[in-house]
Amino acid sequence: MLDNIENLNEVLHRLLVSSAEGFIISNEKGQIVLSNPAASKMFLYSSQEFEKLTIEDLVPQKFRKAHKHHRTDYNEKPVQRSMGIGLELYGLKKDGSEFPIEISLNHIRHKGKLLVMALITDITEKKKIEQRLFNLNQELEEKVKQRTIELEKSQKLYAIIARHFPNGTINVFDQDLNYVFVEGKELFELGITSENLVGTNFIEKLDAQIRETAKENLLDVFKGKAKQFEINYKDNIYLLSAVPLPDEEDKITQILVVEQNISTQKKAEQETLKALAKEKELNELKSRFVSMASHEFRTPLSSILSSASLLEKYNLNRGADSTEKAKKHISRIKSSVNNLTQILNDFLSIDKLESGKITSNIEKINLKELVHESIEEMSLIKKNNQEIIFDCTAKNKEVIIDGHIFKNILINLLSNAIKYSEEESKIYINCRVQNKKLYFQVKDEGVGIPKKDLKHMFERFYRASNVTNIQGTGLGLTIVKKYLDMLGGKIEIDSEENVGTTIKLIIPIHEKDTAN
Ligand code: ATP
Ligand code: MG
Repeated sequence: MLDNIENLNEVLHRLLVSSAEGFIISNEKGQIVLSNPAASKMFLYSSQEFEKLTIEDLVPQKFRKAHKHHRTDYNEKPVQRSMGIGLELYGLKKDGSEFPIEISLNHIRHKGKLLVMALITDITEKKKIEQRLFNLNQELEEKVKQRTIELEKSQKLYAIIARHFPNGTINVFDQDLNYVFVEGKELFELGITSENLVGTNFIEKLDAQIRETAKENLLDVFKGKAKQFEINYKDNIYLLSAVPLPDEEDKITQILVVEQNISTQKKAEQETLKALAKEKELNELKSRFVSMASHEFRTPLSSILSSASLLEKYNLNRGADSTEKAKKHISRIKSSVNNLTQILNDFLSIDKLESGKITSNIEKINLKELVHESIEEMSLIKKNNQEIIFDCTAKNKEVIIDGHIFKNILINLLSNAIKYSEEESKIYINCRVQNKKLYFQVKDEGVGIPKKDLKHMFERFYRASNVTNIQGTGLGLTIVKKYLDMLGGKIEIDSEENVGTTIKLIIPIHEKDTAN
């Protein structure tokens, strides 16, 4: 308890002596009249030396003049304050070195005289720490600057790479599928600038019918899935490869989409496929021709051979009997040669049809007569008791059509109907004219065509699997189809295995002759 003045003085004295802050009292002239040990020690003086100094002795030379002014001003208007606010203050030590300090000023009047009290703190350590902090800060700032430059450089590099991205664009889309970034050589080629696109919507640029799928695919990428799909845009095909771009918190708010124009590759691919298909078709054709030729040529050739060698024999021992036999063999040779010639003719006629060497020759013909004529011709190859029944409801006898072509078609269909049905079966021919069209049909009760073979019927040398024991080259229907194409007509096959086959033709005919 401070119960008297003496006690108080003692406490104050002890406080001053033990204080880490320097404490100086000076008079109006600036002479030091009292100081504590911390003050003299701070300036490297002994207490005795210290109390002979003036305040200016503790101020570095360059500030002394100004300090004297400040001190005079203070003497005139003394207040309690910190000294040199906003300024850096320095003290001068006995050894001539300077050190940073903070000073608090106060004053008292003692026996009519002004005494100024200064509380001085050595802030060398504080300054050092401040300096260190400042340096650290500087270093940090420098690093940030460097990183920013590097980032800008790499961003520039990315932009250059993106701008020169060939045959397409590199895009970044936000969640609404608006462009955030877009660059690529294709933009330049289309005369679009990246600035025009950024902020606009990608989906709205697409054709209405592909918008939904494109949107669905791209929105899936925001769920973390990488996607690849194709779209058509302005006569081009693009391959879109999209990947998510997660941010620092792993949220996907943007996606990267690389758009590549693959039209050229696609075209090349399609052409290669086409060429391959053609090649395959050609190969099949070749092998079918080889098997047909080896099969169909063998019979006539072997009979030619055997007949020729028999002829040779008869020639050696001539007799009446031999002459008769020779005749028989000569006629067999002739018929075999005819057979071969027919096959080759068929083959050649396809070639002629395909190269457009056969032209259509429209004339007025009597349809019923032409059909009867054909039936008559075919009766030579008809099987035992096969019957051909012809029924035509066309009132007009005459129609304008290429009679030669039509007869060829009819002969081919009739020969099939006869060849692929049994003895004693019936073959029906029906015809009618309606709406400028001739409806013609040949129906038989024969072996029919297996379902799996139906779609191949008009391919060259193609023969159904159920007719291998019946002669044929597989060219007849191909020729029929080509002729019908010339006439602008259509053919349809209705067939059931072991029940029968109906071949239906629809051929456009001339106006004048449709009155039925
Ligand atoms: P050709 O060149 O001598 O006419 P082909 O009769 O075998 O030989 P196409 O007339 O083109 O050749 O007929 C192709 C195939 O269609 C035949 O091999 C046969 O399998 C089938 N076909 C055609 N018409 C009939 C039919 N009326 N009944 C059953 N099968 C038929
Ligand atoms: Mg045939």
